Amino acid sequence: MSTPQLIDPFQRKVSYLRVSVTDRCDFRCYYCMAEEMTFLPKKELLTLEELDRMCSTFVNMGVTKLRITGGEPLVRKGIMTFFQSMSRHLKSGALKELTLTTNGSQLSRFAQPLYECGVRRVNISIDTLNAKKFGKITKRGDFAKVMAGIDAADKAGLQIKLNAVALKGTNDDELHDMVEWAGQRGFDLTWIEVMPMGDMGEADRLDQYWPLSEIRKQLKERWTVEDIPLNTGGPATYVRIKETGGRVGFITPLTHNFCESCNRVRLTCTGQLFLCLGQEDAADLRAAMRDHEGNEALIAEIKAAIARKPKGHDFDYSRQVIEGEMTRHMNHTGG
Ligand code: SAM
Ligand code: SF4
Repeated sequence: MSTPQLIDPFQRKVSYLRVSVTDRCDFRCYYCMAEEMTFLPKKELLTLEELDRMCSTFVNMGVTKLRITGGEPLVRKGIMTFFQSMSRHLKSGALKELTLTTNGSQLSRFAQPLYECGVRRVNISIDTLNAKKFGKITKRGDFAKVMAGIDAADKAGLQIKLNAVALKGTNDDELHDMVEWAGQRGFDLTWIEVMPMGDMGEADRLDQYWPLSEIRKQLKERWTVEDIPLNTGGPATYVRIKETGGRVGFITPLTHNFCESCNRVRLTCTGQLFLCLGQEDAADLRAAMRDHEGNEALIAEIKAAIARKPKGHDFDYSRQVIEGEMTRHMNHTGG
């Protein structure tokens, strides 16, 4: 089959697909989910076979990087079958990277099998090194289990990047501890500005907003910070901490526009293709796939969607009102 490249109207090549494989999660991080969540009925979700067909179609159309996310991807039943099946695209060379973002709770069990499927890097979300605080943020998370998961991933040979959501009044007192710990362990650490997703109260979100410019400033008070040019094609910018040798990244979706170099689209667990994290426009790929035996309709729908990928998003906190706010929860779109 030919491999048409996915080029959007702004000449950006779409080579990166993030796939949410479930909206469910064993945690309830307060910035991400409500405590009482109603999850989608099973029949709404793409089956593992459908996920395979969908991802394989994207790979055939030029996607070279797949990131599996959720919800918590590793709580999806049978998910290792999907990883095993995707590894054939790594072997063929069509796919350059298969990776995932996880809360780490299941990594003790899955780190080694993931490595065997060709996964080499993993993003693990952890906002604090304090077990009690961890319990408060995640509501149901077990800190020791996540730490054991991190150790297992390290031992399996997976390169680890930690993601921490920057939350004023919650983990701002741990900046230096986390930088030191990550540096010592040889993990990159990326700080993410809290985004206006889901239905957190407006007042809360503005209160919690800890701008990354402030983090950069605080870092310099304690560490020797060196800028490094590392363009991953993603929204993160990085610095190196001279004392630890470790890298610290910043993802600033609200204060910095990274849309010009955007090479990604997002598939939800129900087969909706979102063209931009900050826009509502989506294509229903599930219908295009379920209603037809062959992949022609699916391919046509993907091409049509890419042809309307917007130039950028509209998040803006600058006037202290939340503009461009999205109503979807992060676990649905995938972070
Ligand atoms: N459950 C997995 C995890 O936590 O890594 C994968 C899905 S989670 C939605 C992906 C990432 O989104 C996590 O790093 C999480 O911290 C981040 N996230 C969730 N809600 C967010 C929000 N409102 N603002 C910024 N980041 C958020
Ligand atoms: Fe679950 Fe990840 Fe959302 Fe936390 S951030 S509730 S771990 S999906």
